[in-house]
This record gives sequence, C-alpha cells and structure tokens, in this order.
Amino acid sequence: MAQNQVKVLLVDDDEDDYIITRDLLDDILHTDFKLDWISSFSEALLAVEKNEHDVYLFDYRLGQHSGLELLREVILVGCRKPIILLTGQADREVDLEAMKAGAADFLSKGQLNAPLLERSIRYSIERSNTEQKLAYMAQYDPLTGLPNRNLFHDRLRHSITLAAREACLVGLLFLDLDRFKIINDTLGHNAGDLLLKGVSDRLSKCVRDCDTVARMGGDEFVVILSALTDTKSASIIAQRIVDAIRPAFILEGGEVFTAASVGIAFYPFDSEDAESLIKSADAAMYKSKADGGNSYRFYSKAVSDQVEKQMYMESSLHRALEKDEFILYYQPQYSLTDQKIVGVEALLRWAPEGQDLVPPDQFLPLLNETGMINSIGEWVLRTACRQLRQWSENGFPDLRMAVNFSTRQLKKLDLADMIARVIAETSVKSENLELELTEDTLMNHFQEHNQMIERIRDIGVTISLDDFGTGYSSLSSLKSYPIDRLKIDQTFVGNIRKGSDDSAICKAIISLAHSLEMKVTAEGVESKEQLAFLQEYGCDEGQGNYFSPAVDAGAMSEILRRKN
Ligand code: C2E
Ligand code: MG
Ligand code: MG
Repeated sequence: MAQNQVKVLLVDDDEDDYIITRDLLDDILHTDFKLDWISSFSEALLAVEKNEHDVYLFDYRLGQHSGLELLREVILVGCRKPIILLTGQADREVDLEAMKAGAADFLSKGQLNAPLLERSIRYSIERSNTEQKLAYMAQYDPLTGLPNRNLFHDRLRHSITLAAREACLVGLLFLDLDRFKIINDTLGHNAGDLLLKGVSDRLSKCVRDCDTVARMGGDEFVVILSALTDTKSASIIAQRIVDAIRPAFILEGGEVFTAASVGIAFYPFDSEDAESLIKSADAAMYKSKADGGNSYRFYSKAVSDQVEKQMYMESSLHRALEKDEFILYYQPQYSLTDQKIVGVEALLRWAPEGQDLVPPDQFLPLLNETGMINSIGEWVLRTACRQLRQWSENGFPDLRMAVNFSTRQLKKLDLADMIARVIAETSVKSENLELELTEDTLMNHFQEHNQMIERIRDIGVTISLDDFGTGYSSLSSLKSYPIDRLKIDQTFVGNIRKGSDDSAICKAIISLAHSLEMKVTAEGVESKEQLAFLQEYGCDEGQGNYFSPAVDAGAMSEILRRKN
C-alpha cells in the first residue's frame, strides 16, 4: 500500500531527463512519488514560491541559467524545502559549491538509479524536517509555544533598532506570576504547566499583532510593545494584562487564582540597549511585587509621574465640558496700515476647579487623540460666534472671528453642516467667521479634506493657513489650495532682524501670499522693530503680545472700546 504521497518537482530543460527520472521513480514500489516537471528558470521561481512540493530536483544546466543560480535565488526568497542538484558528470567543484549554497544533496545524472534517487530524496526530506524542528526548538518554548528567551532577545534588539530609526518608543513589560511556586508545589507540576499555558493564552490576547509575548522561563514572561508613540498606551496594556490574569483558571476541575506583577521600562527613556532594558523592566517588576503584586509599576519615577498626570488629566477632561471648565480667550488682530482691530482669534483655555489656567498645548493633544476635540470644538465655535454676535451688536459689526480647527475635526463628515447650523443659530455673518487650519492639516490631508474645505467656503466662511512656514508645503502646490490667508508662524516673526534668514523668509511669505491674492497676517509680533519691518514689506495684519496677549472676553471688550 502506498504511504503518504511525496511530491517532487523536477526543474530541467531536457525532456529526456524528465522521462528517465519519472521511470526511475515509477520503479519504486513501496512509496508513492508524484513527479511534476518544469523546464524554465522563471516558471520554476513561481512554482517554488507556491510551496506545493516536498522536495526539488534542479538540473545544473537550465538554458542560459544554472541550477546553482536557481538554488541560490529560491533560498534567498525563503525556500525551506530540500533541494537536490542534478549534475551532468561528477564534478567535485560544482558539488561542493552546491552544498555550500544550501543544497540538501547532489546526484550525478550518469550514475542515477532508483534506489539512489529514493534514498537521496528520503534522506533530504528527513534531514530538512529535523532541521526545522531544531530551529523551532531553539526559538520557541515547548510548553506554551511562545517565543523563548533566544527569539525574544532577537526581537527586542530588532524593535530597538527600528524604534531608533523611526524615533518612537519600545515598551518592555516584565511579568512574574504571584504565588506560582505555591501553586506548583501544592497542586503539582501538571497543574503548574496548565496554569502557564492558560496565562500564555490570556497574555497573547492582551497585545496587538505587532507585539511579542515571550516566556523567559519559569513563571516569567515578557512582552515587547514595539513602535509606541506614548507611554500611556503601555500602561493601558499592562493594566489589561493584570486584569486578564486575575480571574480564576480552571485546572483539572478546580479553580486556581494567581495574579501578575508587571514592570515596565521604555527604550530610550530608561535604557538604550536590550540588556539594560530587560534589567530595568525586571527591577520595575520587583517594585510591583514589593507593593503587593497584582499591579504594574514603571521603572522610572519620571515616566510614572507623567503617565499618572496624563491619566488624571484625561479623566478630568472628560468631565470638563459638563462642568463648564473651558473658557475662551481672545487675541486682537490689527490692520498694519491703520493699526485698527479688524479681527480676534479665539483661543481655548481650561480652568480646572481650584487650579491654574491650563494652556492648550498641554491638553489639546489629548483631546485630539481621544476625539473629545469634536464636541469641544463645537462648543468653541458656538461660544466664539455668540461672542461675535454680541460685539457686533455693541458697535463692531465688521469684526472678524478666527477659530482654530485641528485635523481630527476636519475628518468629521458633518463638519460643514455643524458650522452652518451654529452660524444660523447665533445669527452671525458667515463672512465674519474665519477657520484657522494648520499647514500640516492641509498639506497631508489635502485630497481628503479639499471637498470639506470647499463646502465650508461655500457657506461664506474664510480659511486661513496657521503657523505657515513650519510645515512642508511646496510653494507650487499652494496656489491650488482654497485659502484666503497665510499666517506667518511666530518663530519667523520673532527672529526678524536686519539681514537674518528669518527676515528673508517673512519677506518671501508676504510677497508669495500677495502674488497668490491671499492676505497675510504675522503671528507673535512682540516689538516695535518687528512691526516696522512687517509694515515696510506690506504685511496686511499683525497679532501678538506687542498689541495684546490673549485675554478674556471682558478684557477684550474693553480693548475694543478703547481702541476703535
Ligand atoms: P495658534 O493658533 O498659532 O495661536 C497662537 C498662539 O500664540 C496662542 O497660544 C497665543 O496665545 C500665542 N501668542 C500670541 N501672541 C504671541 C506673542 O507675541 N508671543 C508669543 N510667544 N506667543 C504669542 P495658545 O493660546 O497657547 O494656543 C496654542 C495653539 O493651540 C494655537 O496656536 C492653536 O493651534 C491651538 N488652539 C488654541 N485654541 C484652539 C481651539 O479652540 N481649537 C483647536 N483645535 N486648537 C486650538
Ligand atoms: Mg491660530
Ligand atoms: Mg499660529
């Protein structure tokens, strides 16, 4: 009776060779060989890629190519199946080279017979299976199937190299089970093994696909969180792990409880190389154990404080809108020809109960990340429009209100409808409203946002490009953007000095804007000299502490009354 079928692929440009090989394999009675034949190099590459055969026979002569070339090529693209090279006549040099290149065996066609061919094929397959098993055993933990210490070290080094290149973080979680030794000693090794398997299953479910869970040995596990952008997400995963390990494990019919002590360290904050990163995470794990286990700890106090602050801030921000803790500040924008106030920019502030005013750079990233910016952005727009309406009724009917919008807000499909609704609700003139978008928002997402911006402009609202000069807009593409105004970023304005590079940049932006029929506003004007320079080169408007910092609505009303 035939055993499992062995699938053989012959790559040979000579049909006679195929017939000979087929006849030889047919002579072998106790094994069922299935022989496929391909005659060209390129077809062979495709066939090997499909990975449908157990063994390959490559003829040394393949038209313009050699079987040796083919061998090197397929090994390079990851072929792990055994390859036997068929050579014309016994040529020791070719044979040696074939073995060096990774051939499983070589056979001289002149001396080929059925038993020899069969033995070579069987031996090659056998050896390749053993090699793969050994390679697996060298890298994986046999009990849990997780990567072992060796593979973990490789992956960690790899993640660190990538993170260094991409300027991101690697989080390393070191985990030890609480009370594992007692469980193992009292319930026996079998129960201990089952528990470790159960833990490894739960751990694997807590991480992303790109992360590595590995077993270091005993009851110690590690998790590599690669390509992180912030420390907070590591703490979220660590908490998820702690929560996942806590519920009972059902082992041999009984319930068993354990818990995880997790230590977290980050590349590059805590350590710059793999070895010391492991030590740091391990040390943090001991901190967690010392504090009673069933929790996670950071290696460094600084990271721990920062994450705690962020988490606290996030939960406070969630309630800030209901608790009326947001307020708008306003900063006047001046015409540089007659020094009259022509507009104001609304700037968000957070006033948490009993604390100092928090500037936006400390909480905006979190609002954007969590999507809370969408509801808060609507509040900002409504509040700014109500204020605009009030000022317009109090004698400033032409005052313009500028409101900042971030990328995340532009992604909302109903943004234009929301803006139209707020304008109608507050009865302001749409041409008195201006949206400030950052350069990054426009340039990186131009295609997807272009339509939205056009719809917003159709309502009558104008668009200005904030912080201009800090991004990477190509000047030639600028003219295709639906923009009414450029705002020169304050870093350039701040460095205006005779003959400085930044002065040249300011001049260039002003003339660029004008040639594209856009208005231009200078941000962050702080001195008379800067003002004089901007006036000399025809900048339309200016805004900055030289005129007035951002102030609350009451103070802004006062400024308006005094000034205009
Ligand atoms: P921005 O829109 O470029 O706003 C200008 C920032 O420069 C404001 O900081 C303003 O207070 C500050 N500033 C004005 N004049 C001067 C000056 O002469 N010198 C210096 N050193 N700084 C000056 P602020 O209020 O902290 O806002 C920071 C950024 O936060 C804003 O930059 C804007 O991108 C964003 N932002 C503010 N409010 C909102 C909002 O309601 N929604 C959104 N999405 N973003 C907002
Ligand atoms: Mg702005
Ligand atoms: Mg700006």
